Amino acid sequence: MNFAELKSTYEQPLFNLLSQARAVHETNWPKNEVQLCTLLSIKTGGCSEDCSYCAQSARHKNSVGVERLMEKDEVMKRAEAARDNGSTRFCMGAAWRGVRSGTKRFDQVIDIIDSVSDLGMEVCVTLGELGPEEAKALREAGVTAYNHNIDTSPEHYPNIVTTHTYEDRLNTIRNVQDAGMSVCSGGIVGLGETIDDRLRMLEVLASFNPPPESVPINSLMPMPGTPLEGADPVDTFDLVRLIAVARIAIPKAKVRLSAGRTQLSREAQTLCFYAGANSIFYGEKLLTAKNPQVEQDMALLADLDLTPQQPDRSLMPPEKDGKRENMPAELIAAGNATDDAPESCSTGECCG
Ligand code: SF4
Repeated sequence: MNFAELKSTYEQPLFNLLSQARAVHETNWPKNEVQLCTLLSIKTGGCSEDCSYCAQSARHKNSVGVERLMEKDEVMKRAEAARDNGSTRFCMGAAWRGVRSGTKRFDQVIDIIDSVSDLGMEVCVTLGELGPEEAKALREAGVTAYNHNIDTSPEHYPNIVTTHTYEDRLNTIRNVQDAGMSVCSGGIVGLGETIDDRLRMLEVLASFNPPPESVPINSLMPMPGTPLEGADPVDTFDLVRLIAVARIAIPKAKVRLSAGRTQLSREAQTLCFYAGANSIFYGEKLLTAKNPQVEQDMALLADLDLTPQQPDRSLMPPEKDGKRENMPAELIAAGNATDDAPESCSTGECCG
């Protein structure tokens, strides 16, 4: 769908939009299932990047404390607990600008992934920028999906991040696609963007070829000390509309209701599920922000007659359409104005 189509879809009367999204959802996801994903920060804080929503950036005041890469035994304990609690996807995040093959840290991460992938869950990681070699190594170690969010529109991105460009993000996504991993990519609402920015973000995501396997939609949880600490909350109906349009635009993607669920009532979350969300982060903590209690989530799913989706370790990336480009260049041109990424980071923690 192009921007004009996304916009006219978004601007329908709400109940019309919900009906359309529900019909698409039932065709593509008939089982009333929700994927439960557990997210673990395996390396927290001290990041060289300046993402203005993130408490892990070393450039913001009051950023979270720096922790070293978690030991494999500790990661395994958390992964086993997640599996025993019903999670079908285990996502590991590290606050780095990116990773490089041939470094000790990358080897350690590969070793962790190798062991976690034996537990039978889908394995997703988010480690920042990847080159083709790193993407291939992660795929071979057992990564089923790589998370790399585009965050917002190409036009708004330079207002949010200045230490890397939108095109840097898209290059990593291309490398992930080429290595045969599924792409998990979405964004954050509440970054001071317009509705048009949100739809431009969806336009870029919908243009990926193959399409993203999952699309996390996060609502900003303003973190003290970050430039966005005073950002206005996101209107629930705007969030529901965006989820509905995401469901229509990328019908086979898991649309993940991600950060910000603690700010949503049970009824608001229900509306998000009805509009097409079919995946949540599960567990009491996201990378640094709070998440609803496990018991609350299980009770809500039971009340809605939704059941946890089973893991699919044979998960293959969505198929590519051979008749069109991977990502139309004109869609991203506006986001490439920034090229002042630092030669070296200020913390010594980046790039593995
Ligand atoms: S690259 Fe990731 S960890 Fe680093 S500041 Fe940006 S969002 Fe935070």
